[in-house]
Order: sequence, then structure tokens, then C-alpha cells
Amino acid sequence: MVSITIGENTFSAQANETVLETLLRNNMQMPHSCRQGLCQCCMMRSRDNPPPVSSQAGIKDTLRKQNYFLPCICRPEQDMTVALPNQQTASITAYVVEKQLVAAQIVRLVLTYEGSFNFFAGQFVNLKRADGLARSYSIANTPHPENILEFHIRRLPNGQFSSWVYDELKPGDALTLSDAQGNCLYVDGRAEQPLLLVGTGTGLAPLVGIINDALSQNHTGPIHLFHGGRNRDGLYLMGEMQELAATVDNFYYTPCLSGEMPEMGIATGRAHEVALTAMQTLKGWRVYLCGHPEMVNQTKTSAFLKGASLNDIYADAFHVNTPDAAASIVV
Ligand SMILES: Cc1cc2nc3c(=O)[nH]c(=O)nc-3n(C[C@H](O)[C@H](O)[C@H](O)COP(=O)(O)OP(=O)(O)OC[C@H]3O[C@@H](n4cnc5c(N)ncnc54)[C@H](O)[C@@H]3O)c2cc1C
Repeated sequence: MVSITIGENTFSAQANETVLETLLRNNMQMPHSCRQGLCQCCMMRSRDNPPPVSSQAGIKDTLRKQNYFLPCICRPEQDMTVALPNQQTASITAYVVEKQLVAAQIVRLVLTYEGSFNFFAGQFVNLKRADGLARSYSIANTPHPENILEFHIRRLPNGQFSSWVYDELKPGDALTLSDAQGNCLYVDGRAEQPLLLVGTGTGLAPLVGIINDALSQNHTGPIHLFHGGRNRDGLYLMGEMQELAATVDNFYYTPCLSGEMPEMGIATGRAHEVALTAMQTLKGWRVYLCGHPEMVNQTKTSAFLKGASLNDIYADAFHVNTPDAAASIVV
């Protein structure tokens, strides 16, 4: 007999029972509707073992990769620890290992943590400091044997969290991490598919992680990165990206400047416009968009109109809370 654990509770599943039936029989209040794997209202996440493949039918590939499944059609084959999609389970303490200035207003922050923490490059976490102030930041690296997490954080004028990171946070200091979230990540299985990645500002962070993940999984299709900034300082990590393009045959890098005349080797204009002009069609392409919300939203539509399937467009808009919601801030 297998058992299902949710939060503090563990229940035994009866023969041939679905996970949803086990939970409902034990008076757990679970969202559900069709009970046939169609409406997806009961979707859950397995926190330990991968769920049976049949219980992931119809779920988006990025969610499948994160062990999401439909409990109404899941007959467990082994013990499972499960959680609702928005149920935060991790609250891990991480320590600053390194803080490095990579541009005038951008720091590369490296943290380490103890224990297990599941994430994919390109996802984001909420970093929380001791007084409870928390903000979302994207993970710029792939899982690392030394439990390392890398972030790129731009200091915003009077930004509470980013200015504190920039001015005060130092090696040895502690932060709390939430679960990794978001669906902007590399999914293996179509190694020959061309990839287009467009980022503004620190939108480069998740894209660097996704590129390294794709390369570590032997992605063979062309990988095109367009990174945009208003001024030269915004094009941080340019040397590293150029070096990668020089050493990896299928990686192409185009830095773009929109606010000043660029030097040789940098394209003029906004990254998404340069990218869309360069690509005749995006039919069959996978597209990743990260950074300024306006860029992300506009480019989603344009990429679709150029032929990319909606299922192949992955995006993370870096929304910043400003008192003036219409304010446009590039992080
Ligand atoms: C999914 C996601 C991923 C993200 N990833 C990254 C990342 O990788 N790197 C990164 O740098 N950022 C990222 N962000 C943005 C990040 O979460 C923060 O929003 C950003 O760092 C600003 O936080 P803050 O506390 O410094 O600024 P806040 O204190 O929240 O202030 C935001 C802005 O409002 C202005 N402001 C605040 N109060 C006032 C006031 N009274 N009057 C006038 N102006 C005011 C501030 O000057 C500032 O410019 C991401 C956001 C999301 C949603």
C-alpha cells in the first residue's frame, strides 16, 4: 500500500484509488472539477519522486519537467509527497559567497545554501531579508554541485531591496529563499530546434542560465541571443558572451544599444526590434523573452505573428512595483 503526504498529513491510498480520491476521502479540501484529467483544476506537484507519466497528460512541458501532475488521474505507483501549485514549501537560508560589480549599477550575487533546493536555470525565487522585505530575482546558473545560486541585480534609485543589496549586503550575510518559480526554462527533447532569446537589462540573467542549460544538454540547433541596453553600461557580461560565441559553434550573440550610438560590433536599436528584423520567420522556433514587461508583451505577439507557436514562447516580465504604475523602469 502506498502513502500520500501533503503538508503535515500522511494518508494511505486504497487499491486502485487516485491521489485525489485518497485526499478527498480523508476530508482534505482539494480544488477539483472534471475528475478526468481535462480541466486541470486539481493540478498538483510531486515534491519527491516523478509522478506516473500518464498523470501528466496534457500538461505544459515546463510544468511536466517540474513534476506537476493531475491527481484525479494519478494512481500512485510509490509513496508520494505532494503540494498544491502555489503552496510554498521551501524557506531555505542562503549565505552570500560573493558580490561582484559587473556594471556600474549591476551586481552579480552568488549565494550558497545547505540541504536540497530544486530549481531549473531561468526560474526565479523570492529573496527575503531579515525584516521580511522580499523581491523576485531570476537564477542565472544551472544546478551546481556546490549548491550555488547566481543572481544579477540592478540597483534602482531608491529601490528598497536592490539598493540594500548593492550598498549593504556583504559576504557571510544570510537571506531566505522561496521555492523556485516560473516556467521560463529549457525543456530537453527537441535538441535541433532553433532558439531565440531576447533580454533587456538584467533580463540577461535567466537567459544565461537557459543557454548554459541548453548547451549542457547538447542542444544542437542554433541559439541566438539578443541583449539590449539603453547605454553601454547596460550591456554587462558582453566579454563573456562574446567569448562563448567564439567558442561554441551554434551560439550567436548580438548586443544592442537603443539610447546611444554604439561602437563596432554592437547593433543599433532595441533588442527585440533588431531580433525580429533579423529573423525572416520564427516558424518552428522556441522563443525566450525576459526583462522589461513592455518588451516582453510586445515581442510575444510579434513572435507569434512571425510563426512561433504559443506553446514555444516562454517569457518572464520583470514587473517592478512603482507608485506610478505607468512608470517604465528597466532593471
Ligand atoms: C519574475 C521577476 C524576476 C525578476 N528578476 C530580476 C532580476 O533578475 N534582476 C533584477 O535586477 N530585477 C529583477 N526583478 C525585479 C525585482 O523583483 C525588483 O522589483 C527590483 O529589484 C526593484 O526592487 P526594489 O525593492 O529595489 O525597488 P522598490 O522599492 O520596489 O521600488 C521600485 C521603484 O519605485 C520607485 N519608488 C519607490 N517608492 C517611491 C516613491 N515613494 N516615489 C517615487 N518612486 C518610488 C523606486 O525608486 C524604484 O525605482 C524581477 C521581477 C520579477 C517579477
